[in-house]
Parts: sequence; C-alpha cells; structure tokens
Amino acid sequence: MNLMVQFSKSGLLNSFISAGRVGNEDSYKRFERLSEIFTWSAVILGVLIIQLPFGDNLNKTAIYFLAGGVVLFAFIWYHLLPKKFSGVTKRFIYSLITIVFIAAIVHYTNGVRGYTIFFYFLSSLSVAMTMPLANTVFVILFVGGLIYLEAFLMQGEVAVNFSLATLHFWALILIAFYARLESGEATLAKKREEQITLDKEKMVGKLKDEFVFIISHELKQPATAIKGYIEEIFSKYSNTLGAEAKEVLEFTDINSTRLSKLLEDLLDVSRIEKGSLKVNSQDVFLKEVISEVLSNLFFDARNKKISLIQRGDADTAVRADSDRLKEVLTNLVGNGVKYTPEGGQIVIEVKNEGEFASVSVSDNGIGISPEDQKHLFEKFYRVENEQTKSVKGSGLGLFITRNLVEKMGGEIGVNSKVGVGTMFYFKLPRYRW
Ligand code: ADP
Repeated sequence: MNLMVQFSKSGLLNSFISAGRVGNEDSYKRFERLSEIFTWSAVILGVLIIQLPFGDNLNKTAIYFLAGGVVLFAFIWYHLLPKKFSGVTKRFIYSLITIVFIAAIVHYTNGVRGYTIFFYFLSSLSVAMTMPLANTVFVILFVGGLIYLEAFLMQGEVAVNFSLATLHFWALILIAFYARLESGEATLAKKREEQITLDKEKMVGKLKDEFVFIISHELKQPATAIKGYIEEIFSKYSNTLGAEAKEVLEFTDINSTRLSKLLEDLLDVSRIEKGSLKVNSQDVFLKEVISEVLSNLFFDARNKKISLIQRGDADTAVRADSDRLKEVLTNLVGNGVKYTPEGGQIVIEVKNEGEFASVSVSDNGIGISPEDQKHLFEKFYRVENEQTKSVKGSGLGLFITRNLVEKMGGEIGVNSKVGVGTMFYFKLPRYRW
C-alpha cells in the first residue's frame, strides 16, 4: 500500500528522470549484439532501397561511400574495441558517431526536405530510452544544431528550409520526451515488481522462521518427556533389565539427548533470526563454569583417550550469562573432542587482557582449512571431508556460539591449521571488584 502511494506521488517527473536506469552486463551484451545486426541490416537494405526509382536523383556515389564508411566503423566498433569499455559511455559515443554519419546521409539525400531525416529520430529515440537525462538533452541539442545547419547549407527558399527544420526539431523533442516517459514508466514498474518480490521473500523467510520456532517448541515437550521416561526406567528397573534391553535403552537415551539438543538449537536459531535472543549477564567466575563443562564432557573425552587441561588465571570473573557461557564452552570443547583423534589433548586457557578476559580452547585435532574458516560461523555450515563425514552434527553450534558471545558483549575467532590443530578463542568483558 505504502509503495503504491510512493509511486503515484513520484509520477511523471520520476518516470522521466529514471528512464534507462535498469540494465546489467548481460542486457548490455545483448543490446550490443542486436545493435550490430541492426547496423548491418540497415546498410544492406539502405543500399538496396536507393536502387528504387526515387533514388535516381540522389548522389549515389556519395551514399555508397558513406555506406562503406559505416561498414568500416561497425567492424572496428564491434570487433576491435576492448570489450570492457563502460556500457553507457560506449553507447553514448556510438550514438554521437552514428549521428554524424546520419548528418552526412541527410546531406546527400535532399537535406531537411528528404526522408532520411527520420534516422535522427531513431537514434534520439534510442538515446532517450536507454541513457541518462543529461545525455538525452545533449543529443537533442546536438541533432537540433545539425538540422538547422543543414537548413542553412541547403539551396532553396531559406524560410521554407528553416520552418521545416523547426518542424523536425519539434518532432525530435516530442519523440525524445515521450520515449523517456514510456521507458521511465517501464523502469519504475520493474523496480516496483522487484520490491514486491523482495517483500514477499522477506515475508516467506519470516514465516519459515516462525514455523521452525513453533515446531521446535511443540516437539520439545514430548522429547523431554521421552528422556524423562528413559531415565525413570533406568533408575527403577535397572536390576531387572537384560543386557540387550539396557543397550537399546542407552542408544535411545543418547538419541533423545541429541534430539533435545537439536530442538534447543533450532529454537535459539529462531530467536537469533527474530532478534529475541536474551542473555542475563551477571558476574561469573570462569573457573567454576569451566570445571562444570569439563566434568560434563569428561566421559566423552575419556572414551577417546583425550586429555582435558585447564590453564591460566584462576580467579578471573566476567560479565556473562552463566548458562549461556556454559553452552558456549560446551560447544567449543565438545567440538574439540569430536574433531580430535584418539589420544589427543584439549587445553582451555584463561587470560586477562585489560578490560577483557580471553578464553581459548585449543586442540591438536584435524584442523580446518582457511577456506572453511571463512564460513565456520555461518548457520548450518559443516566442513565436508573424509575426516568429518562420520562425525554427527547440525552445523548450528558455532553459529549460535558466535551470536551468544556477541550478545554478551564479546567477540570470537579461530586459528587453525589442517593436520595440526585448532584454537577457538573468545573475549568477554571482565568483572573487576
Ligand atoms: P557441527 O554440529 O557440525 O559440529 P558446528 O557449528 O559446531 O557444527 O561446527 C561447524 C563445523 O566446523 C564442523 O562441522 C566442523 O567441520 C568444524 N569444526 C568445528 N570445531 C572444530 C574443531 N575443533 N576442529 C576441527 N573442525 C572443527
């Protein structure tokens, strides 16, 4: 609705000014090809047409000479000039040269009293429709000057010649003006269409985010319930379960944990997209948070014989949301465990850096190539290679991690070398007392 009002207000003037603005390299190339075909056809047909009876009183030698000139020019223009030459400038110079050729043709075909004057209208029409306003005005004045010059040079009654020149000049202005209006309207209509498509895409994107949010939210409850039931079976019936049943239940437990984590991540992604991700920053001792995260990941690390080492300033406190900070560290250390081969090690180090505290998580795992490093923090990005294909993941962890760190007033980065290892580091504002 707003768009409609905006466009109807801008109206005529806008159409007039914005004519010829839509275009890209592809459409320019197409234009060049068509204009070459047009030039060749015009020369061939022109030479044929002057063989008709009306051509008997024309200076044919001069016209052949001119046609030869046009052929030479077209060959140089379309085949020898560098292709990169700017679209509008090149077309403008082309139009001016064409107009000079037309002036010569008009001169040898009865001047302002002849038919060939319509060539001027053609090239002015093309300029008016495809070029900026300044170029159009220049071309109209240039062509007008040539028409009056022709009237001046012509034999015969001066008054008639000048009145004819004025008639042509008037027609020229009308044609150029009308062409600009028409093409301006087309340009605006195209822009309007693009805007509508963009708005639609945005709306679909929003609906999609909303859909993901609702679905994840609805699925979270049953997923949590399933996990609860499994835990209950474990605690109540552990003694009565056979080995096979226990194993099946353990798998179910692992998968329901994964499902809950995935749903939680999807909810976070929706919150990030909607801008409603909230953090509740307080003073948090890094040591405590790190210890908790490491003890949660202890079994995963032990299964792969990976040692977890904690280093650095023990008493550092930061302003952060304690739960969200645990999530950040769990993602980074968890990734370290996932992407480090058996027997490796992960070092978590805290350093005070003025107003900030930095935490680094370094592993001696598979490493990440420079190209992949550029995209790591993007939504759903996963490195695809032989070493990662057996590791399960959604590609959401680092996207959420980056957003959480930034939301808590910090920043995150990565250093990595393939085959050597990876270090993720993030900084958070320090709490000082
Ligand atoms: P995922 O769920 O796939 O682990 P993340 O967003 O946490 O998603 O990580 C994105 C990708 O970054 C991973 O798929 C992995 O290829 C790569 N990656 C993350 N951490 C490490 C690491 N410590 N060592 C090597 N590759 C890593």
